[in-house]
Amino acid sequence: MLSRAPKGTSDILPSQIDYWYYAENIIKEVLQSYGYREIRTPAFEHTELFVRGIGETSDIVNKEMFTFQDRKGRSLTLRPEGTAPVVRAYLEHNLSRENPLSKLFYLGNMFRCEKPQAGRYRQFNQFGLEAIGSPSALVDTEIILASWAIYQKLGLTNLSLMINSVGCRECRPEYLEALKDYFHDKKKLLCPDCRERYDKNPLRILDCKNKQCQIEIKNSPSIFDYLCKDCDRHFQQLRKYLDSLQIAYQVNPLLVRGLDYYTKTAFEIISGELGAQNAVGGGGRYDYLVEELGGKHTPAVGFAAGMERMISTMEKQEIKIPFWEGIKVFVATVAQEDISAALKIINHIRENGVSAEMDFLDKSLKAQMRLANKLDVSHTVIVGQEELKEQKVILKNMADGQQEKVAISQILRYLQPKKKG
Ligand SMILES: [Zn+2]
Ligand SMILES: [Zn+2]
Repeated sequence: MLSRAPKGTSDILPSQIDYWYYAENIIKEVLQSYGYREIRTPAFEHTELFVRGIGETSDIVNKEMFTFQDRKGRSLTLRPEGTAPVVRAYLEHNLSRENPLSKLFYLGNMFRCEKPQAGRYRQFNQFGLEAIGSPSALVDTEIILASWAIYQKLGLTNLSLMINSVGCRECRPEYLEALKDYFHDKKKLLCPDCRERYDKNPLRILDCKNKQCQIEIKNSPSIFDYLCKDCDRHFQQLRKYLDSLQIAYQVNPLLVRGLDYYTKTAFEIISGELGAQNAVGGGGRYDYLVEELGGKHTPAVGFAAGMERMISTMEKQEIKIPFWEGIKVFVATVAQEDISAALKIINHIRENGVSAEMDFLDKSLKAQMRLANKLDVSHTVIVGQEELKEQKVILKNMADGQQEKVAISQILRYLQPKKKG
């Protein structure tokens, strides 16, 4: 038990970490080039933030939150998503004062108590970006472009873009009524989840993966027959911008997002790699969330994606990334009495940005040399009394086995960056 992580969690081991560094760096680089700045919010928030922000009818709030009480009985929840916390911080720090359009991004752990299944974790990593403060379809376009650019820059292929509109306060109620009318007589044919959704949020029936439900969904009324003028104009505007950039996309009227706060644009980036087609990330507009959380009416749009899925796609597609180059120099000692001098020397090497390692297990010189070989270093510095008298050490080039006496002050000149492979 003590040597097993809790269900639904996973470790990222040193052998995998280079993928994470690489992906995280690209996310930061790309987003900063689009003018987004990172924001870091706490891992937990007041429970009400998510209940209000995500919506009481959502699966997340109903079934998946890690909620607990602090010692004073206040209800707290580990963040299941990043948007509500970002909006909370936006309001708390009055970020709109600095700039009428706040462009923010985040990277971090999220927590959902889901049934563990392949590729789903209870603690997982997400990155996301949010643009808060503009109703313009130009911002929706930019969010899509920036998200797309990350996947491109990572070298991922086989991706496609799906877009839809989920309407607004004006037009969605009528559409929901139409959906309810349509599904009314078919209710008993739907899966138990959808029967529940019928009353709470019939829009969510549309993205049910159940085969029987999908048959019934096929002929359901289309949102595009119900969009109000404003929503329709916004969607046409988005299409125009994407067309002008020759970004290929598919309009999918069944694309709805899992969270209640979305309005107008909804979109997903789909990868063909992961077994069947699968969303690697998604986003959309959420014009009412800021208001819902106590701010004034502030239109906004965002995108979020899971890092685990992104990284497993990178591995599957065998994306070439720069791996850690390993230790370059080993500092060996002839005898116990040389250790202090060796410490000084290894410090000097490391301070100059060259990675170096030594023995911590009181090994013989012979065993130390074996370790140096195993670490595949380019050079070994051998520290011994005789050479120390002249302020020198023996430097062994591990590639050709050549040894020479070198002044300690000159060591760094010999330690070229190791060539891998
Ligand atoms: Zn509308
Ligand atoms: Zn269903």
